[in-house]
Amino acid sequence: MATATRLKGFGAALTAAAGAYGALTLISPIISQSDRGIVDNVRRKIADVTAAVPSREVQESALMGTSLVNPFDVLVVGGGATGCGVALDAAARGLRVGLIERDDFSSGTSSRSTKLIHGGVRYLEKAVFNFDYGQLKLVFHALEERKQVIENAPHLCHALPCMTPCFNWFDVVYYWAGLKMYDLVAGPRLLHLSRYYSAKESIELFPTLAKKEGDRSLKGTVVYYDGQMNDSRLNVGLACTAALAGAAVLNHAEVISFIKDETCERIIGARVKDNLSGKEFETYAKVVVNAAGPFCDSVRKMADKEAPSMICPSSGVHIVLPDYYSPEGMGLIVPKTKDGRVVFMLPWLGRTVAGTTDSNTAITMLPEPHEDEIQFILDAISDYLNVKVCLQEN
Ligand SMILES: Cc1cc2nc3c(=O)[nH]c(=O)nc-3n(C[C@H](O)[C@H](O)[C@H](O)COP(=O)(O)OP(=O)(O)OC[C@H]3O[C@@H](n4cnc5c(N)ncnc54)[C@H](O)[C@@H]3O)c2cc1C
Repeated sequence: MATATRLKGFGAALTAAAGAYGALTLISPIISQSDRGIVDNVRRKIADVTAAVPSREVQESALMGTSLVNPFDVLVVGGGATGCGVALDAAARGLRVGLIERDDFSSGTSSRSTKLIHGGVRYLEKAVFNFDYGQLKLVFHALEERKQVIENAPHLCHALPCMTPCFNWFDVVYYWAGLKMYDLVAGPRLLHLSRYYSAKESIELFPTLAKKEGDRSLKGTVVYYDGQMNDSRLNVGLACTAALAGAAVLNHAEVISFIKDETCERIIGARVKDNLSGKEFETYAKVVVNAAGPFCDSVRKMADKEAPSMICPSSGVHIVLPDYYSPEGMGLIVPKTKDGRVVFMLPWLGRTVAGTTDSNTAITMLPEPHEDEIQFILDAISDYLNVKVCLQEN
C-alpha cells in the first residue's frame, strides 16, 4: 500500500492500493463442499491443533531433499491465494508438494483485493435476463464457496450487510425483487435475508448517505448480505494449513530457472534462490504449477523464451478513507452509477475502503495508484455522500 495524498478539510490520511489482474486470476481457491473428502482428509492431518508449522529450515531441506528419482508430485510457483490453495488441495489429496514464493505469502494481488467473498449476485442478473443456465450454475457455485469459506475460517471471514441506495421507485422494486430472488436461490446457503429500508431508516443506518442524487431524492435502500474476508491472513492460513498437511512451503525464495529433461521438452524441476541467504539449490517435481499471478508470463518465458504473452495486466485501485465515511459493519454498493460504474464503500479494519478502478497498466512489483485514479473514485462516491471529498496537495 502506498500513501498517496491527504483529504482536504478532514486531515485524514488517504492511502491507495493497487493490484494487477492476470489471466490466471481466480477466486481464492477454498475447498468446496463437493470436495468433502478432501476437507475430512485435511482435518485428519491437522487434527492436532497444537501442531506447529515446521520451521523454515525444515521446509527448505524438504525442497532440497528431492532428486530426479525422488521428485515432488507437484511444485507450485507463487504463494498467493492461487498457489497456496493449489498446494493445500494437492497435499490434502496425499500428493508430495513443494511451494516457492518470491516475496512473502500474499504479498502480491492476494493482499490487495476488495476483500469481498462474492456470492454471485451479478451472475443471477445475467442468468435471468439472458436465460443462461451456465450463469445460474455460477451463482450456486459462488454461494456454496462463500458458505464454505466462512465456515472454514470464521475468524477471518464474516457476513457483511451491503446497502444499495435507490433514487427512484423503479430501482427500489428492481433491486428488492432481484435480491429477494437471490435469497431464494441461496436457500440454505443464505447468510441473512435482504430487506428494504425507507429513506429515513437508511440515513439512520448510514449517516453519510446522500439524501439527494442531483435532483432525485432518496427513496430508500435495499440491504443484502455478502461475505467479507481478511484476504492476506486467509492466504497465510492456506499456506500454514498446506504446511501442516505436509507441503514444503518456502517464502522469500524465488524460482530463477527451470530444469528440463534430456529431450529439453519436459520440465522436471526448478532452480531456486533463497532471497534471505542468497543460497541457490535445485528441486525436482513431476508437475510444476505456475501460480505467479500477474508474473505468470515471466515464469512461462523461463520455460520457453518464445512463449507468447498471455497476460493483459490491469490495475485496480482502492482508496482508504477515515472510519466516519461508513458506519461500522455496513457497506454501500452502487451497482450502476450515472455513468455505468460499480462503486462501493466498505468498512475495513476501522477505516472505509472505496473503489475501484480498472485500467491498463505495466506489471510492477509494487503498483502505485495515480492521482487521476484516486480522483476517479472520489468523483464516483461523492454523488452518494452528504460529506465532501476532495484531494489536497501534500
Ligand atoms: C483490484 C482487485 C480487487 C479484487 N477483489 C477481489 C474480491 O473482492 N474478492 C475476490 O475473491 N477476489 C478479488 N480479486 C481477485 C483476487 O485478488 C485474485 O484472484 C487473487 O489474489 C490472485 O491470486 P494469485 O495467487 O493468482 O496471484 P498473486 O496474489 O499475485 O500471487 C502470485 C505470487 O507469485 C509470486 N511469484 C511471481 N514470480 C515468482 C517466481 N519466479 N518465484 C516465486 N514466486 C513468484 C509473487 O511474488 C506473488 O506473491 C481482486 C483483484 C484485484 C486486482
